[in-house]
Formats: sequence, structure tokens, C-alpha cells
Amino acid sequence: MVADNEILRLARDIVDSKKTVALTGAGMSVESEIAPFRGPGGLWEKYNPEEYGHISTLRNEPEKAWIMLSEMEREILKAKPHKGHYALAELEQLGLLSSIITQNVDGLHRVAGNKEVIEFHGHLQSVSCMDCGHQVPSSAIPLDDIPPRCEKCKGPVKPDAVFFGEAIPYDALTRSNHESRICQLMLVIGTSANVFPAASMPEVAKGAGSKVVEINVSETAFTGRISDYILKGPAGEVLEKTLAKVKELRS
Ligand code: NAD
Ligand code: ZN
Repeated sequence: MVADNEILRLARDIVDSKKTVALTGAGMSVESEIAPFRGPGGLWEKYNPEEYGHISTLRNEPEKAWIMLSEMEREILKAKPHKGHYALAELEQLGLLSSIITQNVDGLHRVAGNKEVIEFHGHLQSVSCMDCGHQVPSSAIPLDDIPPRCEKCKGPVKPDAVFFGEAIPYDALTRSNHESRICQLMLVIGTSANVFPAASMPEVAKGAGSKVVEINVSETAFTGRISDYILKGPAGEVLEKTLAKVKELRS
């Protein structure tokens, strides 16, 4: 349980900030029943994502890569945004959240209604042929017959996400750097600060004079070093309460 005075502190910081940006990670979607990489129930317990999710595995051993990918696709295709996703969408509508930089590949911020979403690692909602580029929604591929093949040329297909060993798309990287440099408040939600370069954004923000606040169920490598303070609790509960307090402060 996060104390009321901590919620009030964050709500005040949001209301006072001229530009707020959120950086979200896998913990943001745990309450939507999508497993994170690390922690109990995480994919890491079954597969090493850096191995199964490496671009060379997809190229050389597509069946192995698709064992993990088909499981992630199944989880993501049935997932729905939770109250925390909707709270971030409302903050954007109120003019209190400029953008979300997300490491998540589940597309749930867009589904919840956020417009300014930078998908740092792409998304799993569509797949493209690695030979001819033909793109189809992930819901159109047979997940029980892996590895899936392109319906046009039978080439290997790849989710439109960034794999280990691949570069972050130039546009996502430059926009994220820009947003991090010019924000006054960065909310770092449900990320373990382990995957770079996404994990460097709070440092960029801090270095440029921004306040950095974490929302996470446990402490991270940012805690006490980069972040000014942490609200320890699940993202859905903390964001819902914070939004209610923000509205109260503005009424
Ligand atoms: P991570 O799995 O390394 O860490 C998850 C973090 O979330 C941890 O710090 C944990 O304490 C915290 N957490 C767990 N439950 C929470 C909750 N209810 N509320 C708030 N915080 C909670 O995730 P990461 O730092 O995002 O990095 C891993 C990579 O995993 C990213 O690159 C991302 O692309 C990928 N990934 C994405 C999804 C998704 O799209 N939903 C799922 C799994 C992995
Ligand atoms: Zn093709």
C-alpha cells in the first residue's frame, strides 16, 4: 500500500511540471497478465530472452525463436489495458503528460488511448516477411504451426519488434532522447533498468535537470541514484490514485 502523502507528492509534481514524460517497462503490463522478463513468473524462468529473442536465433533457428515468440504473441493478443494504462491516457488528455516512451511490445498504451507513444522496441501486433516485407496482423498467423511462413513467398517472418542484436529504430531513439532532455518530470514505471539504451533515458532526463520518479513494486538500479523518490506499489493502483489526486488538486 502506497501512503496517501506519497500519492499527494507525486500528484503535486505532475500538476507543477510543464512537461512530463513517462518511461514504461514490462512491469506496467503485469496487471494485464503479461509476464515480465525478470521476477516471479517471468519469461526468464523458462527461456533466456537474450538467446531466444536474439535476431541470429530467429535467422538460424526460427523454430526455437518462435517457441518463445508464440507464447508472447498469445499472451499479448488476449491482453487488455488496465486502470493504470487508462490513467496515463487521461493524463495525456488533460494536457499533463506529453509522451510515453515504452519498452513494451504489447501496444496497450495505444489501445488505452494515448496518442504520443514512442514504441522503443516496436511491437508484436504485426509480423513482416524477412524476404519480401509482406506485413500481416499477428492475429492472422497460425501460432500452433511454428515457425510461421510468409503467405506470399513462404519466407521467414519476424514480429515488428526490435530483437536483441538489432539497433533501436533511429526515429524512436532520437525522439526519446529529445523528450528526455526537455522534460521537467520523468515517471519511470515498471522497468528494471537493465535493457539499454532505454535504461539510459532517466539518466539523460536527470542530467538535463528533470525530476525522476519511479513507480515499481521493488527498488531498481535507479533507486537512490537517479530517481528522486520511488512509489512502491503496483502501477495500476498507484496511477489510478495519483490521477484522482491530480483531478482533486485542479478542481
Ligand atoms: P523487466 O522484466 O526487466 O522488469 C520488470 C520491472 O517491473 C521490475 O523492476 C519489477 O519490479 C517491476 N514490476 C513488476 N510488477 C509490477 C507492477 N505490477 N507494477 C509496477 N512495477 C512492476 O522489464 P523491462 O525493464 O521493461 O525490460 C525488459 C524488456 O522486456 C523490455 O525491453 C521489453 O521490450 C520486454 N518485455 C516486454 C513485455 C511487454 O510488452 N509487456 C513483456 C516482457 C518483456
Ligand atoms: Zn514474403
